[in-house]
Amino acid sequence: MRRLIRACFAGASGYSYAKKAEDVLASAGIDRVARLASNENPRPPSPAAIEAATAALRAANRYPDERASVLVEALRRYHGDYRFVTGVGMDGVIETVIRTVVEPGETVVVSTPTFSFYGLAAATHGARVVNAPRREDFSVDPAAFIRASQGAKLAFLCSPNNPTGNSVPPEAVEEILEGMEGLLFLDNAYVDFADIDYRPLMRRHENLVLGRTMSKIFALAGLRVGYAFVPEWLEPFYHRAATPFALNSVSLAAAVGALADPDRVLEARDHVRRWRQRFLEEIPFRTFPSDANFVMIDVAPRTGDEAVERLAARGVLVRSCTSFPGLGNRYIRVSIGEDWENEQFLEAIETL
Ligand SMILES: *Cc1c(COP(=O)(O)O)cnc(C)c1O
Repeated sequence: MRRLIRACFAGASGYSYAKKAEDVLASAGIDRVARLASNENPRPPSPAAIEAATAALRAANRYPDERASVLVEALRRYHGDYRFVTGVGMDGVIETVIRTVVEPGETVVVSTPTFSFYGLAAATHGARVVNAPRREDFSVDPAAFIRASQGAKLAFLCSPNNPTGNSVPPEAVEEILEGMEGLLFLDNAYVDFADIDYRPLMRRHENLVLGRTMSKIFALAGLRVGYAFVPEWLEPFYHRAATPFALNSVSLAAAVGALADPDRVLEARDHVRRWRQRFLEEIPFRTFPSDANFVMIDVAPRTGDEAVERLAARGVLVRSCTSFPGLGNRYIRVSIGEDWENEQFLEAIETL
């Protein structure tokens, strides 16, 4: 029956997941594993989020609100007067935006090297994926990006970029918005760790979507909540294309609770910024400046995969960047975790 599987899944390998802590614990005889592979917030969610989610669980016999109104209202309180759509993680938002605007066979542009899901989601939707490579230093050339995007319905740009960590200046994003015909999806998963605000661009451009997630600084990765700032024209069609009731009521409530606790977000940001500086100073390999909660490291002459294995043997999980399209095989990405995790990592990388 395998012949029934679509070609895009039969041949390709799909999303690459990080190694599991349990597997390392079992194999290495280590008592504590530093989980620095997935850019999560190492602290539990805000007590406000836990309380709201617990209350929502008691009413889980009902379907959730199909427009996620409580979350949209909370987002308007948090960010101001913008239009928002929500999804099952930002990944869910990405899929729904593709479904809303791209016909099978049409072109989707991806600025590379970057997060792999844009290309995977577009390809499985039947789109033609075109990579727009960044410069050698991983900065984005707006003119080249615009050229690559000619005729494309949709283009993806990640800032701060995963896994390289650098940001695209708002002026360069604006140049791209003015030059391209299609829609730009700007992935801001890590923007809370940076000193940049792209939101004002929403007021001046009709072809911009800002993707956000509650998985990183808001510490809700396990509940899968994503959202996006969208232009007014797109909103009703996004709802038509979306899976009904995709975002569950417990996750919705938790997200509203987390947004009501901005002090916790600031603490997380300050913790990341302190450690990011220390990582850049103390890691004995070439590192790349980062605006996010992770740092990319060039581990040559080792490969990223080798480095991941060796660090795992010392109780530290990091991510090999080999699966990121267009990057090559000599990089790893390490997330900033709790103090003890970061210390354990700095000791382990000395021995590499
Ligand atoms: C983590 C991440 C996301 C997806 O987050 P969700 O957990 O699906 O909300 C999106 N983009 C980038 C670049 C990420 O690193």
